[in-house]
Amino acid sequence: MNETKKALLEVRDLSVVFASAGRWRKPVTAVNGVSFEIARGETLGIVGESGSGKSTIARAVLGLVRPSAGQMLFEGQDITYAGHRQRRKVAADLSVVFQDPYSSLNPALSIGTILAEPLIAQKVNRDTARERIGKLIADVGLPPDSIHRFPRQFSGGQRQRIAIARALAVEPSLIICDEPVSALDLSIQAQIVNLLADIRDEFGLAMLFVAHDLSIVRHVAHRTAVVFHGSVMEVGPAEQIYGNPLHPYSVALSAAALVPDPKLQRERRRARSGLSRTPAQQTPTATTGCPFWSRCPERMSKCETVRPTLVRATNETSVACHLYGEKV
Ligand code: SF4
Repeated sequence: MNETKKALLEVRDLSVVFASAGRWRKPVTAVNGVSFEIARGETLGIVGESGSGKSTIARAVLGLVRPSAGQMLFEGQDITYAGHRQRRKVAADLSVVFQDPYSSLNPALSIGTILAEPLIAQKVNRDTARERIGKLIADVGLPPDSIHRFPRQFSGGQRQRIAIARALAVEPSLIICDEPVSALDLSIQAQIVNLLADIRDEFGLAMLFVAHDLSIVRHVAHRTAVVFHGSVMEVGPAEQIYGNPLHPYSVALSAAALVPDPKLQRERRRARSGLSRTPAQQTPTATTGCPFWSRCPERMSKCETVRPTLVRATNETSVACHLYGEKV
């Protein structure tokens, strides 16, 4: 395997189960046997509705939630249950941009100090740090005097640029972007997505890009994994999953994405309303049946009792649905 194609991050059969408060409440399975790889320089989008488990996957990779099963390898190192010391070492190569640019920056610190913090933690000397901060500010498109100002003096989009600069400060090989544009206005979202795509290309970064909107993910991701109820429903090239989705849930997500053509938008709305009119509302248990069964217009009798596994549907796409091919 070519060095650039080697997996930087490997996630194998990851599961995360949260205990529920209250004696009679059942534990909640947020992530259920998810596997994927990200190569150096590659961006994988993880897309799903709210509550699909997509952010929990990102948080597990970051060590913010404890996996219940599975394994995560970063640059070949097992980080599944990494302790504080191992996480500190990994932090130099694995950065994050969170969803909310208002709460992710310390309001009491100047932008210069916020950007210096990760460099100080990496023991970068003062002169190099000053030079690097100046370059970071320019790289994310902010004026040089930004380093003397405070987060409250910036708009949401500018704050997200600062968060991106902070993520870049340690020169990581992988950035995890957890819904980085969903708290921003539509017009600003495009700017931040373009900035992330430019930065990815300029620095040869890999990204795990979590979002609920397929139309945003297709602009930045090479491949997309569509997640529903904690499981991967479809994984393949981002453009194909946006333009020609195979799994009925991916079809629903694609229909929910906004398009600039009113006629196409009307057709998509019709398709979407057809899905939401699906009569059965029961949800199969976690261990039996297809998780999408209650909303699926294509469901068959076996869908209620036999859980589909990921199968190869085309050369590049795998789908967890009884409508498709052989086991992967
Ligand atoms: Fe629909 Fe059945 Fe496929 Fe699930 S397995 S998505 S219910 S057709």
